[in-house]
Amino acid sequence: MSLFSWSDTSIKQKIGGLFVFLLSFMLCLIVFSVYKIKQIEKEMSVVAYIDMPLSQWMRQVEFIELEQHLRLEQYQLEKAAKNSTESQYQQFIFEKQKVKKLLDKAISLINHSLSENKVYLQPEAHQKVTHAIKRYAQKSDQFERLLDTIYKQDSFTDQERIDVEKIADELEDAQKQIIFELNQLASDDANYINQHENDLLLIGAFLVLCALLIGLGLTIYIVKVIMTRITRIKSNVDTLNTSFEQQELPINLPNHVNSKDELATLEYDINIAISRLNHERTSHKKFEQELLFLLTQDKLTGAYNRYKWDEQIKNQINLAENGEYRFSLIILDVDYFKQVNDNHGHQVGDQLLQCLVTQIQRQIRKTDLLFRIGGEEFAIIAPMLTSEQAKQLANKIKQNINDLHEKGIPKFTISLGITDYQSDDTSECIFKRADDALYKAKAQGRNCIIVA
Ligand code: GH3
Ligand code: MG
Ligand code: MG
Repeated sequence: MSLFSWSDTSIKQKIGGLFVFLLSFMLCLIVFSVYKIKQIEKEMSVVAYIDMPLSQWMRQVEFIELEQHLRLEQYQLEKAAKNSTESQYQQFIFEKQKVKKLLDKAISLINHSLSENKVYLQPEAHQKVTHAIKRYAQKSDQFERLLDTIYKQDSFTDQERIDVEKIADELEDAQKQIIFELNQLASDDANYINQHENDLLLIGAFLVLCALLIGLGLTIYIVKVIMTRITRIKSNVDTLNTSFEQQELPINLPNHVNSKDELATLEYDINIAISRLNHERTSHKKFEQELLFLLTQDKLTGAYNRYKWDEQIKNQINLAENGEYRFSLIILDVDYFKQVNDNHGHQVGDQLLQCLVTQIQRQIRKTDLLFRIGGEEFAIIAPMLTSEQAKQLANKIKQNINDLHEKGIPKFTISLGITDYQSDDTSECIFKRADDALYKAKAQGRNCIIVA
């Protein structure tokens, strides 16, 4: 079993996960960019603190060298005319010292930077510059010594002039070499920085693209998961709604929803299903009531039927068996009912039965129960009444029927048999006792009451 199942997580967690993933990716991107920028900064600092002053000093050296050359030529001309001065040579030496100072500065900067590990880029190239400067310093010393010798003589020989010019040329070459090495250094620096900038751009763009693709992929995945669920729910709701096809739509909802929004359509369908379910529940309740009526009540008269009788008489006996509770049972039957049917028709017979039930319902208490046992025979269960009290009730009912004048219904009478609950009674034996009493009432000439 896997510890983590992506498909089981909530939508909130899925979107949160997506954000965490993307943020981590962006963090990597930022860390990488900072690292690269720091690297570029380091390289720039090498250029700013070492290579740029070097180039500047070398340009100064170049400039001083040019001045020296002019002075040298001046000095040669004046020497030939024999009116050279000490001060011109002093000037030359002064400038020479300026150059020496600059060169010393350059060498010490390079050496110091190399020993302190400040040169991150091409230490070999820097060493080459040092060599070139040293070579130049050597040539410069050589040049100075030669000039010094010449100065102390009265005149130039041709050979001396050639030697001076040769060393001057070599000096110029050595100087060009330094400039060349420095230029090389500068262009290599520029290349390095450029390359790192390009790397930064390329890898940055790649990471951003990856983040976008991953974000897009995950977003599509989440949307797809949600859409699949919506489609499944919608199809279930549609099936439910189709099963209610015959039912008309609830009044407070529009017939149709005009929206491309899947959630709005789903909400509409669910609302319809809920309304139809509510409607279905109401009609189901009505149906249940009707069914209960049919199951427990007699269709013609509305009195309880045999089924209810069987259930209730057992209930009453159970209650009475347990102690304080008592009840009486009255069985009544219409006298000569067959004649009513024969003389007035079956329909009048039915109306008579309905009228009888209405009259009895008016006389009995709410707690009393009236049953149609069969044909024109009825039973009344009277809770908490003794047989004597039940007889009073029976009398009231009988008297009411005797006094009854109902339009369309012939005069009729009823006979009644009464008993109360006796210990160890079963439903059959209590009924039989009451029925026997009724039989006796019939035998005594009808329209009377017998208590068992
Ligand atoms: P008794 O005084 O001895 O009770 O005589 P009776 O004529 O009332 O009794 P009997 O048992 O001879 O006749 C009952 C009649 O009741 C027979 C039957 O056709 C009629 N009957 C039973 N159920 C219905 C009914 O639902 N409607 C109508 N109209 N007649 C019914
Ligand atoms: Mg009868
Ligand atoms: Mg009968």
